[in-house]
Amino acid sequence: MIKYNLKCHNEHEFESWFSNSEEFEKLKKKNLLDCIYCESKKINKSIMSPMISQAKNKDNLANIFNKDFESEKKHLLQLRKYIEKNFDYVGNDFSKKVREIYYDKRKKRAVYGTTTDKEREELAEEGIELLSVPWINKDN
Ligand SMILES: [Zn+2]
Repeated sequence: MIKYNLKCHNEHEFESWFSNSEEFEKLKKKNLLDCIYCESKKINKSIMSPMISQAKNKDNLANIFNKDFESEKKHLLQLRKYIEKNFDYVGNDFSKKVREIYYDKRKKRAVYGTTTDKEREELAEEGIELLSVPWINKDN
């Protein structure tokens, strides 16, 4: 007699006894094995080995990564919404507008837009620090 840990395609795990390993294969081929929980016929031997558990960990890591990425994306979208709501969009005039605001304190307002690397360098030399924000597409 041999005991196998079996697993159906719904991830149900259970134990079953067979007279030998061929019996398992035979029963499986004839669709005589079914899950004791959901009666699924898609049964496989569940192999308990470190390799498998490592693979499982990898899956988990991938899940965690995806989750983190999703929540990160959400944060970036929220950030984008916040900026769009509270900042004036000045597009390519950004560096010009930033200078106006910087040198004319009365014109205090928050703006956002795009700069080239060169404009950004020039502004930095004048002591105007910019915050660059990863801009995420809403449709992604
Ligand atoms: Zn099942």
